[in-house]
Amino acid sequence: MAKRLKVANPARCIGCYSCMMACARTWYDTISLKNSRIDIQTRGGIETPYSQIVCHACIDPPCMRACPLSALTKRKGGGVNLNKEICDGCGNCIEACLVGAIHLDAEKKAVICKHCGVCSKFCPHDVLEMIEVEDSGEVKLTDTGPALDTSPVSPTASHKDLYGGKEPGEGK
Ligand code: SF4
Ligand code: SF4
Ligand code: SF4
Repeated sequence: MAKRLKVANPARCIGCYSCMMACARTWYDTISLKNSRIDIQTRGGIETPYSQIVCHACIDPPCMRACPLSALTKRKGGGVNLNKEICDGCGNCIEACLVGAIHLDAEKKAVICKHCGVCSKFCPHDVLEMIEVEDSGEVKLTDTGPALDTSPVSPTASHKDLYGGKEPGEGK
């Protein structure tokens, strides 16, 4: 069964970058955030929400169509597979991707999500999840949306509100 990565609960992101480090470590054997295939951004400092920039697993990928060397091929479940040997770093795919999910690595090879799901396993707040999709990339009808409440946690919420039970240091 094909799967793809989904940003299920964006409001829960705390910008810890665990997902980026897990991705870079898995696929580049470094923890340099430049090598991550997912990008976590803020729009203006830590008081604004975090955005998760990641491949949307297009069914008809514009990046693939823009590659003059056919280095990108359709992936089962949406998105693309990259043949690094063929990629010459021309950047056409970067221009074509509507969500800004591609960049080049230090060797001028495209960095594109493989939808492996490693990042989702390291996210402490279930922001990311893997979903089953049709081989074509179409979302299955059984995927009914976010698995968790997507509302941001109130900045005034107490430990007790969030986790139940006692406040830290309150009795034993
Ligand atoms: S990299 Fe961009 S254009 Fe290519 S499949 Fe992913 S979202 Fe679509
Ligand atoms: S699904 Fe895999 S390749 Fe894609 S961002 Fe996550 S760890 Fe990286
Ligand atoms: S691991 Fe989860 S909470 Fe941390 S930056 Fe990534 S998406 Fe956000």
